[in-house]
Amino acid sequence: MINPSKLTAIECAELIQKKEVSATEITKIFLERSKEVNSSINSLITISEDYALKQANKIDSNFEDFKNKPLLGVPISVKDVISTKNIKTTAGSKILSNYIPPYDAFVIKKLIDSGAIIISKSNCDEFAMGSSNETSYFGACRNPWDLETVPGGSSGGSAASVASSQNLISIGSDTGGSIRQPASLCGIVGMKPTYGSVSRAGLIAFGSSLDQIGPFAKNVQDCEKLFYSIAGHDPKDLTSSKNKLKNSKNLNNLNNLKIGICTDISDQGISEGVKKVFKNSANAMNKLGAEIDEISIDYIKESLPVYYLTAPSEASSNLNRYDGIKYGYSNQDGKTSWDTIDLTRSNFGDEVKRRILLGTFALSSGYYDEYYGKAQKIRGLIINSFNNAFKKFDLIISPTSPITAFKIDSQIDDPLLMYQNDICTMPANIAGIPAISIPCGLSNGLPVGLQIMGPNFSEGMIFSVAKLMESNMNLNLLEEVNI
Ligand code: GLN
Repeated sequence: MINPSKLTAIECAELIQKKEVSATEITKIFLERSKEVNSSINSLITISEDYALKQANKIDSNFEDFKNKPLLGVPISVKDVISTKNIKTTAGSKILSNYIPPYDAFVIKKLIDSGAIIISKSNCDEFAMGSSNETSYFGACRNPWDLETVPGGSSGGSAASVASSQNLISIGSDTGGSIRQPASLCGIVGMKPTYGSVSRAGLIAFGSSLDQIGPFAKNVQDCEKLFYSIAGHDPKDLTSSKNKLKNSKNLNNLNNLKIGICTDISDQGISEGVKKVFKNSANAMNKLGAEIDEISIDYIKESLPVYYLTAPSEASSNLNRYDGIKYGYSNQDGKTSWDTIDLTRSNFGDEVKRRILLGTFALSSGYYDEYYGKAQKIRGLIINSFNNAFKKFDLIISPTSPITAFKIDSQIDDPLLMYQNDICTMPANIAGIPAISIPCGLSNGLPVGLQIMGPNFSEGMIFSVAKLMESNMNLNLLEEVNI
């Protein structure tokens, strides 16, 4: 009998390949598990039962064509900001609550081609704006470690669904930390790839120069497998890179690696519990042979203000399209088309409205140079500082999140406090570089994540180091989850 919480994605694909279980049987097990668990966690907006069973049946009845696919029959949940043909894609918003895309995102085609089975669409903050999954129109999602706490955000449903074994892997989007922070709070692995290495075509846009799709999994190997399945050039995304990605290696030690502890984001505002667990991981890296030193990265502390000018400015322009005329929710109770636009757009949630107002202000004539323009100049300086740092260090580490999972409702009325949750993760989006979060220990019984950042297109090296850390520190914490 298969136990969903004991299975990994790689094992699942192997079992199906060896015909010890069929894709349909696996799909049914995880659909059942999703239905059972979702009622208490609220991590899924849609369970795509018919769609998933059809996909599984296709694999079982054309087994020879599929048998060598890397994600053969692996159940996956997809964040509800990624377009799925014929499956509702809501972005966690009332505005798109009935929207059914006419096409698949590039990554969805890649997933289907890799043999993965999309069994659900996961809950998220509205238009991916948030750090707690509480801004979703479909209600807050809960953290399987402690149902009174948040799973992080904005890809909270993706992380919580993996942590509670409703699916073995998930994909989310990360604009300022939305993959890594929920991965950290839910005790799983999540990666934001290099900007341009995974196509954004079909991703509902938030901050286009920062958005990046990336993988979630229970362990680093599964995460890596998923990453290489979705990465690759796509002519439909003009920022998609043609760079060839390097594979990871199986390392026995970290000799010859220089790793920098970024003091600017590893000290201030970090809880004592998180600091302690983080220090242990740095010591473990040192014991494995890495040379560890502290580094201060110029201007990195400006990442938060740069982000909160850049992301809302781009969002205010991206969200113009939701006017109640082209598609999505439409309120036509008024007399003119202007009334329709007003009445429709008043249905955005408070956080989304706040971002639109902030962004529209920052872009308005007379203020553009003062705000958006200045933010872009500082962004350039931050990119330069990282380039200089990577001349001296192979990788840079920090905690992923300054605190562990916090109580539902405890921060939602204090946006500035909420924004602080991403102080460690935003710099990688500003610079475009890849960064992973892996579980590295517990503080007061809740998971803490270690962030490893590397230069552009160094995913292979990041996975190599993360795999060694995982096996040496016995980092699979999910055994502790009881749901
Ligand atoms: N929490 C950040 C925000 O609210 C980041 C969100 C994200 O990465 N999508 O903007």
